[in-house]
Amino acid sequence: MADDVWEDKRSSRPVRETLQVDRPTAFFVEEEPAAPGQVTTVATLFLVNRECPFECVYCDLWRHTTPDTVPVGAVPRQIETALSQMSPAREIKLYNSGNFFDPRAIVPEDHATIARLCAGFERVIVENHPRLCGSRCVEFRDLLLAERRKRQTGLPEDGILEIAMGLETVHPDSCSRLNKQMTPTDFQRASRQMVREGISVRAFVMLQPPFVAPDESVASALETVEFAWESGARMVAVIPTRATTPAVRQWEMQGVFREPQIGQLESVFEEALARKRGIVTVDTWDLDRFCPCDACGPRRKSRLHAMNLSQRILPPVSCSVCG
Ligand code: SF4
Ligand SMILES: [Zn+2]
Repeated sequence: MADDVWEDKRSSRPVRETLQVDRPTAFFVEEEPAAPGQVTTVATLFLVNRECPFECVYCDLWRHTTPDTVPVGAVPRQIETALSQMSPAREIKLYNSGNFFDPRAIVPEDHATIARLCAGFERVIVENHPRLCGSRCVEFRDLLLAERRKRQTGLPEDGILEIAMGLETVHPDSCSRLNKQMTPTDFQRASRQMVREGISVRAFVMLQPPFVAPDESVASALETVEFAWESGARMVAVIPTRATTPAVRQWEMQGVFREPQIGQLESVFEEALARKRGIVTVDTWDLDRFCPCDACGPRRKSRLHAMNLSQRILPPVSCSVCG
């Protein structure tokens, strides 16, 4: 990564918003595919906690974090607050704009309480960096299992914990410039280790990250999706890369990054679904920015949403305006 781009990222941050530490920044129930033809409900919480130390170039999640570690008990209170106000769901996603097993983000003293609050869900999904996957994950899985056994719910034990990890891209040039501080091999090692422990894995894959040219980005994203499956991922989420940080916007001006278009996302999704190697979804948040045509944008977005849930390739959208 060019030093000037890195310096620009650090120096051009807007002022950080002050967040309450007793309440998640957002929470809602969403639907996700559980298997082809099966949809599940997920209580999704965005927890407030200390900023992630990795500082990947494309990431602006620090906006939803605090500069310091939040007090013991604050994260469990956030979970209790959200659950008391949400409709029931089968699974729970605890996303913390960072890494759940970073002890300065979610303090280990809170793990047992979090396990007690969440063990009634079929699956607990947390996000984590591959280099932070190790014994702490296994210990947290054990806390969840112990809570579940006490309750005699009859729910299966395998996959009670799922770790969502950013693989991002296997493209060597791009991967080495994202400041992710990991290689695809690190991801594979962590993923296989988690799967051996009965912990399932989902992977995030970027479509058209910086330094991947538009004419090679679909093939590169598919190669990355394949790598995630080979590494044991149960589920892969493809995310179109957005220019949301000063560093990526600078690369955009230098001509080494361009935001993808919705047609490329459709191509990756269709081909990945056709391969039938695991669950694959695409990120449909803020899709309008990738779809220049107002006439077909809403229909394309609805189709992708329906394909996410059904895991089936639906008929393509035709458009008399953009073709
Ligand atoms: S590890 Fe994740 S949360 Fe941390 S900077 Fe990178 S992308 Fe953002
Ligand atoms: Zn159109």
